[in-house]
Amino acid sequence: MNDRAETLEFQAEARQLLQLMVHSIYSNKDVFLRELISNASDALDKLRLAALRDKDLTADTDDLHVTIEVDRDARTLTVRDNGIGMTRDEVVSVIGTIAKSGTAELLRQLREAKDAGASQELIGQFGVGFYAAFMVADRVELTTRRAGESGGTHWASSGEGTYTIAALDEAPQGTAVTLHLKPADTEDNLHDYTAEWTIREIVKRYSDFIAHPIRMTVERSAADDAEATTETVTLNSMKALWARPRGEVEPAEYHEFYKHVGRDWADPLETIHMRGEGTFEYEALLFIPSHAPLDLFSPQGRRGVQLYVKRVFIMDDCDALMPNYLRFVKGVVDAHDLSLNISREILQQDRQIRAVRRRLVKKVLATVKDLKTGQPERYRTFWTEFGAAVKEGLLEDTDNRDVLLEILSVASTHDPAELTDLAGYVGRMKDGQTDIYYATGEHRATIENSPHLEAFRAKGYEVLLLTDPVDEVWVEQVGSYDGRTLRSIAKGEVDLDTEQERAEAEAERERQRGEYADLLTWMGGVLADSVREVRLSSRLTTSPACVVGDAHDLTPTLEKMYRAMGQELPKVKRILEINPGHPLVAGLRKAYEQGGADGSLAETAELLYGTALLAEGGDLADPSRFARILADRLARTL
Ligand code: ADP
Ligand code: MG
Repeated sequence: MNDRAETLEFQAEARQLLQLMVHSIYSNKDVFLRELISNASDALDKLRLAALRDKDLTADTDDLHVTIEVDRDARTLTVRDNGIGMTRDEVVSVIGTIAKSGTAELLRQLREAKDAGASQELIGQFGVGFYAAFMVADRVELTTRRAGESGGTHWASSGEGTYTIAALDEAPQGTAVTLHLKPADTEDNLHDYTAEWTIREIVKRYSDFIAHPIRMTVERSAADDAEATTETVTLNSMKALWARPRGEVEPAEYHEFYKHVGRDWADPLETIHMRGEGTFEYEALLFIPSHAPLDLFSPQGRRGVQLYVKRVFIMDDCDALMPNYLRFVKGVVDAHDLSLNISREILQQDRQIRAVRRRLVKKVLATVKDLKTGQPERYRTFWTEFGAAVKEGLLEDTDNRDVLLEILSVASTHDPAELTDLAGYVGRMKDGQTDIYYATGEHRATIENSPHLEAFRAKGYEVLLLTDPVDEVWVEQVGSYDGRTLRSIAKGEVDLDTEQERAEAEAERERQRGEYADLLTWMGGVLADSVREVRLSSRLTTSPACVVGDAHDLTPTLEKMYRAMGQELPKVKRILEINPGHPLVAGLRKAYEQGGADGSLAETAELLYGTALLAEGGDLADPSRFARILADRLARTL
């Protein structure tokens, strides 16, 4: 075989992750075994399924199992399965590279992590699967044969930059992973992975629920000095957790199961165990993770719920059972009355499955709602991790809109540190306030300093500060909460006054309109390429100017988002509002009336417009021109 061996390099990210494993930044090394068994179990499920779908597949599925083999003298540990196996190309692509999106981001965060604890946490959230073997082994070998193929593949690596790969004329069905273990810790024998009881303990703790037998051949020393004999024992109980009565399952058991289905190394935030009876029986065991995966917003991200039929694994990522906005929910649904051959397409159409999905969604949302009322800390974790995804539900899932609006939290001017819910906002509304006001933008700080907020601040009105891209869309579509309109502070005319104040203000504005009419018309002409109108503002108290949209205009953030998505959009011209109470605006009018409109005055108008854009965090069309005019002006003041 060696003359056919090839040496290949790991992909750069894989190499870096492996280095972290070789130097073991993760302290609980025992989990390597859970990862290998988890992969073996997946491979057995896949083979059973493949055989079911393809009657011609030459594979033996009578006794699907995992075996653990130990050689104490050679210090090797082998995890073997007779499952689906891998082709050579699969070995190269899934073992030699890390396709998981977010890997680059994780590595960046790891480089920046200050201490070992933070690094552990990050790796723990990421989960490294197969590579965990390198925490305990200084060399790993893998022999595999894909079901249906005659030859196999041998792979070996010591976790440095390269691995070798070679073709084998023959190999047993499935995959065997052999670890050449590092020397055992001398102080404690706890981590001697060649010791029978260590292996028994680890399997019991982490892999008891695995649906296939995990076997090991052990020595039984006979009483007196007779020959030692061997026997093969099954280490796991194989009980499907979801089929057991709720009260009988320990939290730790739920958690280990979650780590297998969720491919996570951290405990889940919430566990939901439910059962549907009647015409369509099913059991569901769902988990809300305690942190978002790095690929939550990537379309290739791995998602959620597995479908079983009567304990038999049918498919991963069963999107018919969980809507996209709850894609982070992990777990298993075991439906008793489905065909083992059911396809994704048929599932999507199935009336019963749709009913199950409705119940699951309601249950997940109810769980979050309970967290919100009963366990604010946990709710906060939930919302920080998944809030941005859950908000997509306000668009996708109109049936559950009310409860989604109840569990929603957003930033607000009310409290710089805490989020608020909509009910809280409504409870704090001022006398005479009829609408719910919100502002959108990329960062809280820019919105808070934007001129649009001035009149609201002066009035003591609370404003919701929305910074997720999806926010702009849902506020538009939802439109109102509790009978109150959701209104953008940057759109349309604002009118925050009482009846009498309004009359007075109107009279004052009428007077100012007369005074400013000529200036406004002139400025409208000067800035015609950029804005569609220049008018006096009733929303500004301290800034000279701001740019606003009509009630139906796209906001700048949305415009940016659509353009980033590659959509062609006509340029949206907005409205420049100027503040007659500001000395710059008053001075501009005076200069205009005295000297008429020269070039320098036109530049002042441009500067005024430019600063209004900058104040809302917007982009200037021609920043260098703006900078030059400004520098000239400043020079003249010295
Ligand atoms: P994950 O299990 O999350 O996909 P792993 O790093 O644990 O990530 O495994 C990577 C991939 O390697 C698996 O998705 C699978 O395709 C393949 N693999 C690992 N172990 C086995 C095995 N025992 N049999 C077949 N394929 C395997
Ligand atoms: Mg795995």
